[in-house]
Amino acid sequence: MTRLKVRVRGTVQGVGFRPHVWRLATGLGLTGTVRNDAEGVLAEVQGARAAEFLHGLRRQAPPLARITAIESEPMPPVAGEAAFVILGSAGGVVVTSVAPDACVCPACLAEMCDPADRRWRYPFLNCTHCGPRFTITRRLPYDRANTAMARFVLCPDCAREYADPADRRFHAEPIACPACGPRLSAQIADVLAALQGGRIVALKGLGGFHLLCDATDAAVVERLRARKERGAKPFAVMALNAASIERWCRVRPAERAALGAVERPIVLLERRAALPEALAPGLDTLGVMLPAAPLHYLLFHEAAGRPAGTGWLAAANDLLLVATSANPGGEPLVIDDAEAACRLGGIADWVVTHDRAVLTRCDDSVVRVIAGAPRFLRRARGYTPRAIALARAVPPVLALGGVLKATVCATRGAEAVLSQHVGTLDNAATLRFLDEAAHHLLALLDTRPVLVAHDLHPDFPARGLVERFALPVLEVQHHHAHAAAVLAEHGVVAPALAVVLDGFGYGADGTAWGGELLRLDGAKFRRLGHLRGLPLPGGDMAARQPWRMAAAALHALGRETEIIPRLGANAAAVARLLASGRVPLTSSCGRLFDAAAALLGVLRISSYEGEGAMRLEALVRTPRVLATGWRLEKGSLDLLPLLDALRDCAAQEGAELFHGTLAAGLVAWARAAAAEQGLEFVALSGGCLINRTLAEATAAGLQAAGLRPLLPAEAPAGDGGLSLGQAWLAGQGALPP
Ligand SMILES: [Zn+2]
Ligand SMILES: [Zn+2]
Ligand SMILES: [Zn+2]
Repeated sequence: MTRLKVRVRGTVQGVGFRPHVWRLATGLGLTGTVRNDAEGVLAEVQGARAAEFLHGLRRQAPPLARITAIESEPMPPVAGEAAFVILGSAGGVVVTSVAPDACVCPACLAEMCDPADRRWRYPFLNCTHCGPRFTITRRLPYDRANTAMARFVLCPDCAREYADPADRRFHAEPIACPACGPRLSAQIADVLAALQGGRIVALKGLGGFHLLCDATDAAVVERLRARKERGAKPFAVMALNAASIERWCRVRPAERAALGAVERPIVLLERRAALPEALAPGLDTLGVMLPAAPLHYLLFHEAAGRPAGTGWLAAANDLLLVATSANPGGEPLVIDDAEAACRLGGIADWVVTHDRAVLTRCDDSVVRVIAGAPRFLRRARGYTPRAIALARAVPPVLALGGVLKATVCATRGAEAVLSQHVGTLDNAATLRFLDEAAHHLLALLDTRPVLVAHDLHPDFPARGLVERFALPVLEVQHHHAHAAAVLAEHGVVAPALAVVLDGFGYGADGTAWGGELLRLDGAKFRRLGHLRGLPLPGGDMAARQPWRMAAAALHALGRETEIIPRLGANAAAVARLLASGRVPLTSSCGRLFDAAAALLGVLRISSYEGEGAMRLEALVRTPRVLATGWRLEKGSLDLLPLLDALRDCAAQEGAELFHGTLAAGLVAWARAAAAEQGLEFVALSGGCLINRTLAEATAAGLQAAGLRPLLPAEAPAGDGGLSLGQAWLAGQGALPP
């Protein structure tokens, strides 16, 4: 007779782990107990087959569980124990973690499509293996009273399921049915009819409202673009399954897996058939997601003619919907019904809501498969608040990120937890959301920071929030944080090189950085080199008007006389400004992309961050290298010869030369530094690394040179990853003096 004490760590609460333990133990004829506690799940099992229990624990774990460790130790057997019992959360058990939201599971979908089931066509069904978590949870502990479900009193059938350890809904806090749960404000059939009739519908989803319309109807897509005042920024679409999307996009195996993952991110796919140009003007990609919530599945079920059974789920479905965040004017996502009525009234023809509140706004996540793995453009729903494992435990710190695409990061032991995507801190509403996200995250982790970190930018907009914490503050250089984020998630503590490529970060010397070669050593860094600077005529304006960067490039090439013939008479003032010599330089890689895009006539004015780079990448079929396109000089990389060559290129040829040559130059640059410094790891980060062509060519080149390139996988390469890097650096003891 063996008795074991078994400790399970990770995301093991609120995901059906105790019933899993109960089923496993009773199936093996074991007696004992299982409970949640402050460290995860603690079980005691007794019987002849106790060793087998340990094997099944991980192998048969529930789908949403994430086990980070199982520890066991023998105990003296307890005489006369007759049963295996789940100990409840009476007695003040601390529930330590909340799981991310997960898409509806196959078992729930089967019930939703079964006319005999009491949850037939019910838009809010869920179980311990699926459904909302993060977005409906106000505070710890994670039980129904602290969620948006508190106001719905369980009916007798739901109460029975909730209390039965053998049931899939045992302790499923968001449990609901048509008799007792939330209700939609409209009929699904009417919503679908409106969409198919060319109307724009605002529909409340898991993390907030979406704006939906028929993605195949060019007129309504253009109307949505105009009403949302969105410029050329691409829209994402929702399709039932990969079979449906394949007629419009190429779906590679890794992309198919990403689309179908329980996190249900938007996945950037290569577009191949005609769809309205207004979906993603000038791009060869389209962001696609499959339905996450039963509510969204019901729209496709309706479109398929309400079939019974689950066969229709695998068949191609003609319905293709634009599904874009309802965040007018770049402010945070709308989550509240009253807010929706007033802020979305001018955009949507119809606002459809329900009575389950979204307590925490959470945008859709966006990924792109690069070098075989999904990489984040935006990390939010489905992933937040999943922890990122660190190489070692650090003191509790809070990091507030940068100005663009802000996120918050908090550490707890050897874990870092990133908040959902917050947005650009250029308006009061987003600043309030940052405050909210920071406090919500700290509440969910039940931790108190000892230090606050943020970007070095002198105009960092959230200084008010920083001051309210009244804690020591660490300001972290932007590109240092980008690089540290990559090393943090890969658990690399050895000295490493980093190539950081982005649009703008405030440099340690007060100038505009953005194409940096760094050496990281613990919490310190050294700037080994940078992209040769180009003048930045008009500061921020140059980021919105790529033609200014083309003028800057022509000036730097000594071809001032070409500025007006190529860029028009409007460029005269900029030409004079450049000639004055009073224009600051930037090493930004994003602006280098802009210069190339404008020189090639691809884009003069940009309507969103990174548009120049995205449009240029869209033209590339095969990247090609211009061997004379770069020079290494005093540790810096000079790409002016490449820009010079682009003056005489057609757009596609130029785009291919630009990507191939930039990657080759970066590889040569990092190789030289690695040899000189005796290092092998090269972290690749910054917003430019979401360019698949550039990231794959650079990583492959470094690999071929015998180096070890590290691409971000757990956090965004762009500014959404800054807070992770800041937190890791702060936690390593880079305390302010
Ligand atoms: Zn389920
Ligand atoms: Zn019920
Ligand atoms: Zn950046």
